Amino acid sequence: MLIAPERSYHTGAFIAAAQTLGIRLVVASFGGACLAPVEGGLRLPSHSAEAALDLIAQECRRHPYGAILGSDDATVALAARAARDQGLPANGAQALKVSVDKLAFRQRCQQQGIRTPRFFVVEPGKTAQQALTGLPFPCVAKPTGLSASRGVIRCDDRAQLHAALARIRGLLKTEGKLAGAQILVEEYIDGEEFAIEALVREGRVDVLAIFEKPDRLAGPFFEETIYLTPPRLGEERVGQITTGLAELCQKLGFFHGPVHAEVRVNADELWFIEIASRTVGGRCGRLVEFQTGVRLESLVLANALGLPQSVTQSEDVCGVMMIPVPKGGLLRRVEGISAARAVTGIVDVEIDAREGQFLVPWPEGCAYPGFIFSRSHAFHTALAALREAHRHLQFVFAPTFPAQISRSTSS
Ligand code: ADP
Repeated sequence: MLIAPERSYHTGAFIAAAQTLGIRLVVASFGGACLAPVEGGLRLPSHSAEAALDLIAQECRRHPYGAILGSDDATVALAARAARDQGLPANGAQALKVSVDKLAFRQRCQQQGIRTPRFFVVEPGKTAQQALTGLPFPCVAKPTGLSASRGVIRCDDRAQLHAALARIRGLLKTEGKLAGAQILVEEYIDGEEFAIEALVREGRVDVLAIFEKPDRLAGPFFEETIYLTPPRLGEERVGQITTGLAELCQKLGFFHGPVHAEVRVNADELWFIEIASRTVGGRCGRLVEFQTGVRLESLVLANALGLPQSVTQSEDVCGVMMIPVPKGGLLRRVEGISAARAVTGIVDVEIDAREGQFLVPWPEGCAYPGFIFSRSHAFHTALAALREAHRHLQFVFAPTFPAQISRSTSS
């Protein structure tokens, strides 16, 4: 059973993967317009997790399930509870909490003796001066519960921190999440950053890919750009990252299922910035497929059910660019897609943004307008192809005119 939010872009990939593997996959989802009931899916009530769990339990009494998975951050906790209720392996409650709560992650690392940046909490309504004495600069301010680098802001001094707190609170207010919201402020960790995609099976961690991020993410905002795999790392560093991740999973209760983590490497030390009990976001999972010949979602399903999967290891270097939002505004069209696709080494250019869509840059934004994929024999050519393809893309925006509506009181 796959528990997915109503419009998850992961759902289609999991359905296709299940078909390839010959597994019966039932999609459980929420909402009036959900597709789940089509093809024997399950429509879950959205008002209460308990009601959803009851319904899943009833369904499991009718048909035994081999695994219950969540597709996204929003459903992994429910899926893990449902799995545990059925006696199926799943991540522990602590792992699920640290996946979606950045403060809980820092606290748990500190308790478990895992290297973590010094951090401070700004309570609701408090200013930086009131809350933070002895704070190191540069630091990074971030909301505790958003994802995709939304609201993550580097600050080099108190004035910047003050402005960042106001900006983060503005974002939380727009999201309806301001009430009671704490803001995390942590020491800025310089260094090279890598993302890691892994599968955990009953406590054993198997790294599928390490992605190098060749563009240094130094702020003030942290929109992702390019991932390339395999990374330009020696065996020793790969071993250090693999062992570090296994220790993190073991100490934080990541016991079963996919994990995605971000790590900074600085002066030979590993600093885990985050870990989540799901697959990589966006469409970056395609890189795993390019590398192994097997769709990431197939590997996740096979891992969940304990099915053997034979994978190959490509000699190529594969890359993805999460296309940056060039500026905020109403999109008319994107030009140059065919020229970008024609660049040597480019596998695909996917533009998700549509005409009339309002593009929002980081730190308030969270959606990349599209993705460029490359594949080549060498790191530098895979990287150069992404950059060249990107240069062909032109975002055309509609002119916008600020308007003020005033209501006349005279009759
Ligand atoms: P999210 O889960 O929203 O992506 P993260 O906490 O992972 O938020 O932060 C997003 C990015 O911001 C990280 O990948 C990293 O590049 C940068 N970042 C976050 N915290 C720090 C830090 N303490 N030091 C340096 N960079 C950081």
